[in-house]
Amino acid sequence: MRYTITREQIKELAAQLDPSTRLFTSADGQEYEKLIARWADNAVRQAGVVAVPVAYEEVSKLVKFASDNKLEITVRGGGHSTGGCSSSEGGLVIDLSGMRNVSVDKDSKLITAQGGALWEDVDNAAIEKGLATVGGTVNHTGIGGLTLGGGLGWLTGLYGTVVDNLVSAKVVIANGSLLTASENENTDLFWAIRGAGHNFGVTVEFTLQGHDQTNEVYAGGVVFTPDKLIAIIDTLNAKMKSPDPKAGIILVFASPPTMPGPVVVANVFYNGDQAAAEECFDSLFKLGPVVNTAKMMPYNHVNGLFNAMATHGRRKSIKAITLTDHVDAEFVQELFDNYAQKMKENPDLAMTFMGIEFYDVTKLNSVPIESMAFANRGLYRAGIIGLEWTDAQKDLENRAWGRSIQDKCRQRIIDSNQYSPETTKTALEYANYIEPGDLVDKRPFGINQRRLEILKQKFDPDCLFHKTTPVVPLKN
Ligand SMILES: Cc1cc2nc3c(=O)[nH]c(=O)nc-3n(C[C@H](O)[C@H](O)[C@H](O)COP(=O)(O)OP(=O)(O)OC[C@H]3O[C@@H](n4cnc5c(N)ncnc54)[C@H](O)[C@@H]3O)c2cc1C
Repeated sequence: MRYTITREQIKELAAQLDPSTRLFTSADGQEYEKLIARWADNAVRQAGVVAVPVAYEEVSKLVKFASDNKLEITVRGGGHSTGGCSSSEGGLVIDLSGMRNVSVDKDSKLITAQGGALWEDVDNAAIEKGLATVGGTVNHTGIGGLTLGGGLGWLTGLYGTVVDNLVSAKVVIANGSLLTASENENTDLFWAIRGAGHNFGVTVEFTLQGHDQTNEVYAGGVVFTPDKLIAIIDTLNAKMKSPDPKAGIILVFASPPTMPGPVVVANVFYNGDQAAAEECFDSLFKLGPVVNTAKMMPYNHVNGLFNAMATHGRRKSIKAITLTDHVDAEFVQELFDNYAQKMKENPDLAMTFMGIEFYDVTKLNSVPIESMAFANRGLYRAGIIGLEWTDAQKDLENRAWGRSIQDKCRQRIIDSNQYSPETTKTALEYANYIEPGDLVDKRPFGINQRRLEILKQKFDPDCLFHKTTPVVPLKN
């Protein structure tokens, strides 16, 4: 049982903190409202108090106070959880927006970012030194939430997941201790935070491996009418038989207001020069897009390209879907028809999109699944439904539709014998695209579930951190 914070407790807490840590309650009006705002309006909760620390020791004090008083607590990174995981009704929110510094060491190519940094902070600081690392494709997402759940991005084909590039982290665990976790120190904590990190504390600092990125990259949206969908999938399946790790395609169903109906957008990325990129995507371009915005740009601009379709506000929900690596074109056509029908029935959902990610998974799958908590490795294609609407009366209905698509995809893989919830080592749905209440695995961390439960008992037996893909401690 966890409790909301009382006025007396807020005073007691304030007396223990350094003046640099600011506390905000509803009495602070606009400043408080700004701090409880989230990417999705439906994720807003009335926090009892929001603390904005700028020092790691202060985060320790906040966590210890919450542990000692059995308070409801959460951490806010970039604020993109659509399930309200970084919000609290009446509890203590540790808001990391005051901790966004990033430093880059050109010689070691290490990028050290504070726990509240956004991907734009990391991408911009790194590129100044001729470096880049795997990061989120919408650069206003937080590195905190995204890294702790694994992290997929345009550079995944070359370098794997974000956690495959995590060299060390500083974590405040439930008893308030600040620990360094790496391959040499607190190795079991390091194992756990790489994939299930939201369960193990507040990560106040991440050190990521950077990679040389002195060339510009080729990226943009290639828009097709829906009659091209089967041909597009056939083309992508053919490409993925001998994938180029420098390339990535996120295929999106969207309903832009400028188009008469839903369209298919192949968002392309190539880490190389224009000639090589155009050769790589030649078979796709030959299918006759109606619009093609792809062009050369600095790497740090790429993760800003989706920002226009991922703006803050309105009601939202994201849902993980998974397809087999060789994508069944007829099935994807069914998904598109389902999407188009839903958009027609409910125009309030017009900003909703569905995406399927095509990149080379060789590097991602070269890392043994048991080497860290992240369990979304295998011959699958990650996908996402991004629901967006305005009518609060439709929250349940819209989510239920998203879950029905999720379920359809899951059942398809089970029926094709390419996945079994009982025996397959991997987890099917990508943990970072799952919301509380979604229809997913009983073991969201696959083969790694049991070790995580043991480590949860060691580091957080009273489940102080329980918001995102919670792990239940295994009692002795
Ligand atoms: C528009 C959009 C684009 C996305 N693109 C990608 C993508 O390209 N690749 C990908 O892998 N995923 C992507 N995702 C999924 C994304 O990884 C998750 O939504 C992630 O949780 C967002 O992190 P955040 O810090 O912005 O969110 P928050 O809502 O702030 O946090 C999410 C969870 O993480 C916890 N948390 C945040 N920071 C910390 C910290 N420092 N220490 C401890 N706990 C913390 C919060 O308490 C909460 O439980 C995307 C999501 C959205 C909405």
